[in-house]
Amino acid sequence: MAISGRDDRFVEFEQVQKSYDGETLVVKDLNLAIGRGEFLTMLGPSGSGKTTCLMMLAGFEAVTHGEIRLGGRPINQMPPHKRGIGMVFQNYALFPHMTVGENLAFPLEVRGIGKAEREAKIRRALDMVQMGAFANRRPAQLSGGQQQRIALARALVFEPELVLMDEPLGALDKQLREHMQFEIKELHASLGITVVYVTHDQGEALTMSDRVAVFNDGRIQQLAPPDELYERPANSFVAQFIGENNKLPGVIEEIVDGRARVRLDDGTVIAATAVNVSEKGQRTLVSIRPERIEFRYELLPEGIEPVEAEVQETIYMGDIFRTRLRVAGSDDFIMKCRNTIGQRRLAAGEKVRIAWAPQDARALDLPENMRENSTN
Ligand code: ADP
Repeated sequence: MAISGRDDRFVEFEQVQKSYDGETLVVKDLNLAIGRGEFLTMLGPSGSGKTTCLMMLAGFEAVTHGEIRLGGRPINQMPPHKRGIGMVFQNYALFPHMTVGENLAFPLEVRGIGKAEREAKIRRALDMVQMGAFANRRPAQLSGGQQQRIALARALVFEPELVLMDEPLGALDKQLREHMQFEIKELHASLGITVVYVTHDQGEALTMSDRVAVFNDGRIQQLAPPDELYERPANSFVAQFIGENNKLPGVIEEIVDGRARVRLDDGTVIAATAVNVSEKGQRTLVSIRPERIEFRYELLPEGIEPVEAEVQETIYMGDIFRTRLRVAGSDDFIMKCRNTIGQRRLAAGEKVRIAWAPQDARALDLPENMRENSTN
């Protein structure tokens, strides 16, 4: 029976830091609480510290500073096999000389579970991943997808409450990966387990997770459900990392009640929501999703100022038109329009006026790679 009140803090990282060489911190002051039954994904570019966090939680890497708790208990000093955590990795790590059945028996033997119970559990776990007929095969006799199913069964066979997965589908082709994403989600829902999942694939993170922690440079940049991450990125890193965004550089002229007036670099003035900018005169990057731009601006509410644009090209993509525009001195401003009734394809050279709702234009900090230019 779950201890109520602790359920939203089943896994806790408190001020956790990690250094491998005693100098550089690859995880910097991590604070994160994961709820019981939650599917939490750590998403970020390679080298951002995701795997290190998972390894510290699993007990394979020591914590340099801070505390990790599981079910309210500190586990910094607890050896990995006592933590009761199931794990799945990209490269399967099945024992090649053992059959599938023996691979699954291993974590049960380690835990001192008797033969009859072992067999029942192995059968149940194999059925769960639809591999019941494969108990006597060796890993080499299985396809990549089948091996990954077995790895999943082996992580679940001892019925852990917490399962860690590090790029578990990274080696699979797209179709199989999408199928396995679905299967993992189904297992998560039906077993009620807590999953901490690591990936650098944003599509995977957005479709599978209850919440996503976006990592960069050893820090969580934003922790939010997928829709919030996409609709309301908290800074320019997240805005650029998740999905596609148009980026218009400019200067803050005024901020009133969270609404910024931004002078873009060509002199155009636009309204935007001030996200993590606060000062007049501050350089900013306004980010706008391509699907939130409308050139039939008569469809938008009154009082929205359109912006002049010139069509560079339109690519027909079946369900959408993808139009590249010249806007405020930038040539790579993208607008996506649904190929729906009444929608027309814009031709190169056409002058249009585009508009968006002010809440869809977000004034953010300048990303690091643009900061050196920020003084001129
Ligand atoms: P991610 O999972 O986001 O790709 P990692 O946690 O693997 O990131 O790595 C974070 C940083 O720590 C990287 O700079 C990486 O080179 C370094 N690192 C990872 N593992 C080790 C290790 N065992 N020894 C030394 N440095 C490591």
